[in-house]
Amino acid sequence: MFGFGNKNDENRQDWKPNEWLSTLYKIWKGIFATFKVLMGAAVTVLLIALICGFVFATILGDYLQNDILDQSNLNLSDLTLDMNSIIFYIDNDGQIQVQQKIDSSVNRDWADYEDIPAHMVNAAIAIEDHRFYRHQGVDWITTIQACARMFFGDSSVGGSSITQQLVKNTFGNTSVTVQRKVLEIFQATQMEKNYDKETILEYYLNVIYLGQSRWGVRSAAAAYYGKELEKLNAAECASIIAITNSPTYYDPYQNRDNNLKRTKIILTAMRDQGWLTEEEYQVEINRELNLKWGIDFNDTMARCENETCGYKDVVSTLTKNGDKYYCPHCKSEIPVTKVSGGYNYHTETVIMDVVYDMIKKDKLEINSNNIRAYLEKIKRGGFSIYSTMDIDVQKQVDKIYSDLSQIPAYRGGAQLQSAIVVIDNKTGDIAGIAGGVGPKTEIFGQNRATQSKRQSGSSIKPISIYSLGFETGAFSPATVLTDLPYIYYSNGVYYPRNSDKKFSYSRTVLHGVTSSANTIAVRGLELVNEKVSGYKVSYEYLTEKFGLSTLVDGKDNNSAPLAMGAQTYGVTVREMATAFATFPNGGVYREARSYTKVFDSNGNEVLYNEQEERKVLGEKAVNYMNYCLTQAMLVGTGIEADLSRSYGITTAGKTGTTESNYDRWICGYTGYYTAAVWAGFDYPDTISTISGQSPANQLFKKVMGPLHKGKSNKSLYSTRNMTQIEVCLESGKLATDACKADVRTVAGDLSRIYNVWVYKEDIPEETCDQHVMISYCSGGGVANEYCANFASVDQSVVISEQALVRLNTDQINAIKKAYKLGLRDEYKTNNFVYSVDNNGNDLVFKGFQDDVNQTVAAPYVICPVHNQQAWEEYLANNPVTPDTPEDPVVPDEPGADNDEVEITPIQ
Ligand SMILES: [Zn+2]
Ligand SMILES: [Zn+2]
Ligand SMILES: [Zn+2]
Repeated sequence: MFGFGNKNDENRQDWKPNEWLSTLYKIWKGIFATFKVLMGAAVTVLLIALICGFVFATILGDYLQNDILDQSNLNLSDLTLDMNSIIFYIDNDGQIQVQQKIDSSVNRDWADYEDIPAHMVNAAIAIEDHRFYRHQGVDWITTIQACARMFFGDSSVGGSSITQQLVKNTFGNTSVTVQRKVLEIFQATQMEKNYDKETILEYYLNVIYLGQSRWGVRSAAAAYYGKELEKLNAAECASIIAITNSPTYYDPYQNRDNNLKRTKIILTAMRDQGWLTEEEYQVEINRELNLKWGIDFNDTMARCENETCGYKDVVSTLTKNGDKYYCPHCKSEIPVTKVSGGYNYHTETVIMDVVYDMIKKDKLEINSNNIRAYLEKIKRGGFSIYSTMDIDVQKQVDKIYSDLSQIPAYRGGAQLQSAIVVIDNKTGDIAGIAGGVGPKTEIFGQNRATQSKRQSGSSIKPISIYSLGFETGAFSPATVLTDLPYIYYSNGVYYPRNSDKKFSYSRTVLHGVTSSANTIAVRGLELVNEKVSGYKVSYEYLTEKFGLSTLVDGKDNNSAPLAMGAQTYGVTVREMATAFATFPNGGVYREARSYTKVFDSNGNEVLYNEQEERKVLGEKAVNYMNYCLTQAMLVGTGIEADLSRSYGITTAGKTGTTESNYDRWICGYTGYYTAAVWAGFDYPDTISTISGQSPANQLFKKVMGPLHKGKSNKSLYSTRNMTQIEVCLESGKLATDACKADVRTVAGDLSRIYNVWVYKEDIPEETCDQHVMISYCSGGGVANEYCANFASVDQSVVISEQALVRLNTDQINAIKKAYKLGLRDEYKTNNFVYSVDNNGNDLVFKGFQDDVNQTVAAPYVICPVHNQQAWEEYLANNPVTPDTPEDPVVPDEPGADNDEVEITPIQ
């Protein structure tokens, strides 16, 4: 009887969980077995499909060659030529001259096959691909095993042959799609058809990543064991090969035990496969491995120059006599000087440009493996490369830049660094370049002219704002803009600020350029923004028209980066020079090339470096820009770099200084050359300048000056279609006599009028309506009746017609806010103000500091000396004085002498 009751007691005893479970397990096993069979079938089908596909593809090899393989063709064909490439330049007589023969030093870390220890090769084969010598690029047995394992959940699937790994490493097929895998298989078999096993091994061992930013076994040998590659023993070779599987997990420094464990596995595999005898194995497996970073001089490799000798060993094996070393084998002298500094910066720029362009042409990824492989290709490929170097320019650049005594000295221990690019305005190409200062000691070391990105500071303004404003008509050089901060944050910070921390209340755009005022640049950008949505357009100008490639979209299209040059990463000297060369070239941008053409050893053209060219600016904008930038050199921030005084050559340009004085720039040009110069420290630090001197300006002049010796002057702009006008700095309109009679000008302070050349359409239509003529007393304010009394008895009291400035409440408040922030003195005095409300009605003026204590409420400062009390005192002290004036003088109605000015009469 089965009941539903009591199940807690009886049924529990009948319940047999083990049985239930085992039944379930059996069912599951059944299902899984079926699944396995099905999967096995699927795998088989897939593999058959794959193999069939491969066979099919091989039959249709031509189609593939043209289609799939062409996408990333393994074009290593020049690698085995072993012919040096040569860079040529054209001299002043149009003759082709050799600039540089490219030798083995182009790729210092590269190891030729014969220099690689056999243990290194054998270790790689033993652990990575033990059937390497038997397969044709793909080890099918391993591949099928790996596929099978993959289907049953083993994620650690290897199975790539050394050839496949080389394809993957060198040609950047990083994605793991089935298509990619198949393509990799095709490429590997293709590679084996074209190259022998030694070549493949040499390339593989030179491009594998070995941790610690090391590629290739030669540089790894130096990084881990402080040795020349040739000197490594089997255990050390195995330890380096161990890294490739997972460079962090097997890093000998970070994970020593992991590395040692795998080293032993490799040594064992080497023994098992016959690469090591049992005796050798015993020595190697018990060897103590000592890590050491970097090769000492005595351990560096030396080669005997005597070709019939060929002795090669580390320096410590040589016989030393004084500074000289002798070969112990043939007794001849052999050089062991330190590695040379490679080539000059122009040659290195050419080589890197050719490397990049070849990689791009072969549709491959730009990565360090490919760069190394293509450097090697250039070294051995027998190419003829035609460079754009101008020997005179490069010599002058080297003369200054390689001589540290020519580099301005600055406080602190670090060497001030600098970089320069000189462009020939005839061609737009790079005539001379330096990527650092002092003797060149490194091969392909840091090139600060082409690689380093530093913030541009104000040197960006002509290409980000001013030329754009002229081009769009947002402003002209005569436009007057407010030179005051306009954003005040609660923590006392304000924006924008000028680098000298001074504000002049207002400046013309021309003055903004020559004095490098940030306020004017920021306001200018706003005007452009109102006209053509400026941030977007300005950013497009920089990136698409002026060719700056290092800006960051979403970050650098903003006020501070665009108007003041505080970019996320910065700009390069090369790109700044290229952009500025647009100005002396009539507004046409040209890409500054370092080379024009490359031919292979059979004379076939393999690269034609077509110069990118585009119209960026119209004639008027260019003329305005050249005018403003010439003034910036003549009387502005570039005066130190100007060549007009010492060389008689008109120069235009724009300086730049970044926050904390970390970077100094000048981008300038003459009718002949354009040059951009950066100066600063490698680890950014303040440049402690001597009395405001700029090292960039000084270096510009040192290089550019002598290049112009004996050359006739070329003007950079023409005033033929322009008119010189006088602009009032208060109203921004045409100046009147009243503007010239500003009380501050009469007192000897700075003029409030600015002379500037403009095109007819940019001449302001109106004349100044802000300057107000008024009777002004030498007592220091607008004359009242008592001033006239005093004037009649005292010749030293003078009343004359001078002008005040009508300022509304907003303008007065703006001055009040900026009062303590470096505002120029002529805007801090109260005596020039004629106060009106925002509707133009007279308003009592109490002074910027609320310090004007007047008995008579007036819209301006009334003469504080000559008041009623003073006059009464005077009368009391001078009883015999003749009659009091019959006709007390009241102040003239302001503006009465000036028809152009409408003024509300004083009440
Ligand atoms: Zn020798
Ligand atoms: Zn005026
Ligand atoms: Zn007076």
